[in-house]
Amino acid sequence: MTPPATRQARPLPAPRNDLGLREGYHSPQVPVEVRLNTNESPYAPPRRWLDAVCDLARDIAFNRYPDRSAWALREALAQWHGVRPEQVFPANGSNEVLQTLCLAYGGPGRKALMFEPTYALHSHIAHLTSTAIVQSQRRNDFSLDPEAAVSAVQKANPSIVFLCSPNNPTGLAEDEGTVSAVVGASPGLVVVDEAYGQFASWSALGLVDDAVPLAVVRTYSKTWSMAGLRLGYLVGPAEVVRTLERVALPYHLDSLKQAAGRLALDYSEQMERRVAAIISERERLISQLSQLPLTVWPSQANFVLWRPLERDGREVWKGLVDRSVLVRDTSSWPGLEGCLRTTVGTPSENDRFLRALSEVLA
Ligand code: PMP
Repeated sequence: MTPPATRQARPLPAPRNDLGLREGYHSPQVPVEVRLNTNESPYAPPRRWLDAVCDLARDIAFNRYPDRSAWALREALAQWHGVRPEQVFPANGSNEVLQTLCLAYGGPGRKALMFEPTYALHSHIAHLTSTAIVQSQRRNDFSLDPEAAVSAVQKANPSIVFLCSPNNPTGLAEDEGTVSAVVGASPGLVVVDEAYGQFASWSALGLVDDAVPLAVVRTYSKTWSMAGLRLGYLVGPAEVVRTLERVALPYHLDSLKQAAGRLALDYSEQMERRVAAIISERERLISQLSQLPLTVWPSQANFVLWRPLERDGREVWKGLVDRSVLVRDTSSWPGLEGCLRTTVGTPSENDRFLRALSEVLA
């Protein structure tokens, strides 16, 4: 007998109209030996942290829901940043923080402003939450003109302004003057996405205040070497955190993650050493790349953006893949024509990349 489900077979329902032909955001993965395309850390987190997480896991009451407020994690993060736990909102990766922000402060009839080229998820999440997108442009060198930024804010009247510092995929960080000017002009919330914050020389964290409409978003995915943990958080006014809690799903952060994130902070010295090693490799990479026929942009992050002077970006990307080195192909992104982005890896990975690139360009 035919099962009932098959008898009922018919075309499946269409998704909501405004999804259009939009693809989910993803970085193409190709099986290669040297993977320098998603800005992960090339180093594993400390073994002792993992042991501590495993020990703690044995005591977790997995039959019970987690602490809904993730209070111990928030306390630990608050102490680490010198703020109050009420000013910290953790979520499953900083992407979920961004989504929660858009759900709470964006939505139908509201606008989010961003400065392109920038992290593609800012506009993607805005779109998915039915927040209107206003895209202003950076200067040709990818820096942000503070005066142009202020006038873009005044013109757009956005509920959310996204700044990304250091900016992915271009690498430059904003300075205090620019962030303050944008906050001063903004009628809504200014969100500074500092996914790469610890690689940079300045952070907007010092500007966070309960009376200032500014929130800073950070992640465990890069500097903490924990992209697989999916943990990020916001530091901002307590009122913003309370608002985000109204929108977040109940028990959105599992017990193990809360514990793992809290324990990670005990290994901040190791984190700082890894960050220092990556920064020093970044500077070596920039100086070596500058010897090749490329335009190379300065970076305050764990990646470097570059563009071949005489060769097609996509062809160079393919040549690298043929040599088992994967970088991010941004060559067809608006405003980034011909550009490629390389994540800083271990010294030997970076050497492999540099050798492969010299061959491809030869
Ligand atoms: N913001 C920026 C600027 C990023 O580049 C990334 C990762 N690519 C994220 C946020 C998201 O990081 P996660 O969700 O892993 O915390």
